[in-house]
This record gives sequence, structure tokens and C-alpha cells, in this order.
Amino acid sequence: MKKIGEGKVLVSDGAWGTFLQSKGLQPGTCPEIWNVDRFDDVADIARRYVEAGSDMVETNSFGANSFKLEYFGLEEHAYKLNKTAAEASRAGAGKDTLVLGSIGPTGKFLITGEVTENELFQAFSEQARGLRDGGADAIIVETMTDLEEASIAVRAAKSTGLDVVCTMTFDAMPDGTYRSMMGVAPAEMVEPLIEAGADVLGSNCGNGSLGMIDIVREIRAADATVPIIVHANAGLPVFEDGKTTFPETPEFMAGHARDMVEAGACIIGGCCGTSPDHIRAIREKINTL
Ligand SMILES: [Zn+2]
Repeated sequence: MKKIGEGKVLVSDGAWGTFLQSKGLQPGTCPEIWNVDRFDDVADIARRYVEAGSDMVETNSFGANSFKLEYFGLEEHAYKLNKTAAEASRAGAGKDTLVLGSIGPTGKFLITGEVTENELFQAFSEQARGLRDGGADAIIVETMTDLEEASIAVRAAKSTGLDVVCTMTFDAMPDGTYRSMMGVAPAEMVEPLIEAGADVLGSNCGNGSLGMIDIVREIRAADATVPIIVHANAGLPVFEDGKTTFPETPEFMAGHARDMVEAGACIIGGCCGTSPDHIRAIREKINTL
């Protein structure tokens, strides 16, 4: 993650889930099995984002922890599905693009006692080792809502020796503040996650461009120096005629890139609803700043 320290604003990638679906992934099937069965299609997603201007791409491993894989009877294959995820992104992205190995939540809750801290640590460690061994440059722990789970995932990721990025997902509250589903405010995640070993902090999903600018300001106010990454959705999803669409166009998102940088963001990409077109527009705007 040397590049991040050089002071230039970097561009990350956009959505993976919707991209996989556009290539034929059926709802209710395991996305990560494609790392083995449809390796070239997965690599192509990384390639398309690099062509659009991404300095870094993620991996198709968001749900590849043993708890989530259990739904598909694939829990024994977590290491391999993560390793092949990193290999696919590397194959598509080439050696000069950073590969961030994606780790999402397990869907299990510490607070209800259905899982222990040690079980979470083991699952995240297995995932992170697979990603590292497949060639990831860093790990991104993302879409977290529970600060405890996020901290455990960051510690597990850090134990691989790689740099660690961590993003949490916040919702806008009626009073104009932001909270994760588990009640965590953006400022509240900063110290615990840095202490757990996070090198870069930020937010993904849950908000479009404007909400994210507020969240970046709050993180920056809590810590003057930590690099901040933002993966905004292309707005909030709209359900219409049985279809989900996202309202923010590439031009709209790129039009807010300057405000995002002035608020303190160092890395800008996209989450749900964003495509290579969004990334291309953001890249062009960043190049002019
Ligand atoms: Zn999202």
C-alpha cells in the first residue's frame, strides 16, 4: 500500500455482485464458486475496472468465510476459494495494480452468543491466508456493522502480514447523523479499528455520494491523518417494475469527487450500482484535481 502514502488520490473499483449477475450468476448460488468454475469471467471483471482507470481492484471473496460458505456446503473450501479469488483478480489486473482481498461479515452475531470471538478470528484468518497466498497486496474488511466483528477481522487480516483496509456501512438517521445497523457512529470506529491494526479506514455501501461526504468529514474530524477510502453506492436503490436500479449516474458521482477529496478522502471507488462507467468518470475527474 506504499502508493497510498505518496499523497495522490487513488481510484478503486466498482461493484462486483451486479457485474457477476450480468455475466449469468444466478441469485441464490454461491458467487465464489465462480473463482474455480468461471475463473476467466471473474478475471475479466478486474480487467474491466483496470481499463476504466482503477488503481486497485477487489476480489470475488466477499462471502467466502466458512460460515457463509456453509449455506452452500462449501465450508471446507474457504481457503481455496479465497486463494483463487486473489489469483483471478491478479490475472485480470496485472502486476502493477493493487489487489485488495475482500472480506465481508459472517452474518453471525457475537451479541447473541451464536458465535465466539475465537471462531470468528479463525474463520477470518483462514480467509485472509487464502487471499494472501493467492497474491493479494492488502486485505479490505468491508460492509461491517458490528465494531467487534470488524476489529476481529482486522486483527485476523493483519496477522497475515498484509496491510489492512476496513470500511463500515452506515445509515442516515432522521436527525442527520449516521449509524451502523449495530449503532456505531463513524467517529466511534476510528480508534478501535486503528488499534486493531487498520492502515486505511472508510465507509462502503448504505449511502450515495452526498451521505458519504458527511461520513468522510466525521472520520477526518476524529483523526487528522488516517487515509480514508470511500465506496459509495450509486445512490439508494429504487425498486420499480420488479427491478432494482440505482439513480446516480457516472457524471453525478464524478461531480462529487472534488467534495469527497476536500472532505478528506484519499481513495474513491464505488459500491452497489456502480460500473466501469462510473469508475471511468471518477478517474477523469480525479485526474483534473
Ligand atoms: Zn453496496
